[in-house]
Amino acid sequence: MNLEQVTGMVLSAMPIGEYDKRVVILTKERGRISAFAKGARRTNNAFMACTQPFAFGNFTLYQGRNSYTLNGAEIQNYFDDIKGDIDKISYASYFCEVAAYLTYENMEAIGILKLLYQSLKALNVEKIPNDLIRAIFELKALTFNGEMPQVFECVKCRRKQVDLHDVFYGGFSSRAGGMCCRECVETVPEPIKISPSTVYAIQYIVTSKVEKLFTFLLEDTSKEELCRVAKQYMSVFANGNFHSLEMLEILSGTIEYSGK
Ligand SMILES: [Zn+2]
Repeated sequence: MNLEQVTGMVLSAMPIGEYDKRVVILTKERGRISAFAKGARRTNNAFMACTQPFAFGNFTLYQGRNSYTLNGAEIQNYFDDIKGDIDKISYASYFCEVAAYLTYENMEAIGILKLLYQSLKALNVEKIPNDLIRAIFELKALTFNGEMPQVFECVKCRRKQVDLHDVFYGGFSSRAGGMCCRECVETVPEPIKISPSTVYAIQYIVTSKVEKLFTFLLEDTSKEELCRVAKQYMSVFANGNFHSLEMLEILSGTIEYSGK
């Protein structure tokens, strides 16, 4: 048998027939793949737990001509502590959906896989607000996806900040591709006003290692600016129709449930 070991996280699972499942796994070795899990919906089946969304660990796959079949799994983290909280489940599902949207089979996916893992872990740290985790995840995911914003010079006049004590940057424009100085802020499309601590947070997110990302907090004004920037940046560079996002917005009261 042509067996292969991969490390990854289950992004989603879909029922197939009466007893089986098809799972989408983001793997370090093969990018985003989908695999058939025979019997995974039967009570007490060995695959029942390891084919649930967020399960992270080593998966053994049988590689057929056109598809993968799950042969075994050794799960290191089920993220069960997230599953008791509807807010956290919604955020985690959204992160998985975005990760699925940005990845494909046989791509290099280690960065986004690590980001996903650390973001889910961060959801369990009470003092880090969920919307801050979301903004960090969104900006970093797009950076990994080749859409790193320009954060070290003005996107318009190309000047750099010389005096670090000076308030140089005035805004962020996703369509212009990043930060702009205070003099250019009115000339870029849809600028979002950002304060110095937001500037620093964005620079930190874009350049830091994934392991160091969830180590800071922001005061409310700055956090709101960062969330607006991340949201706008996503709408320009990853405008997917994310179902879990709708759920998130209903939960946070941003939109009212339309009953659809
Ligand atoms: Zn400028």
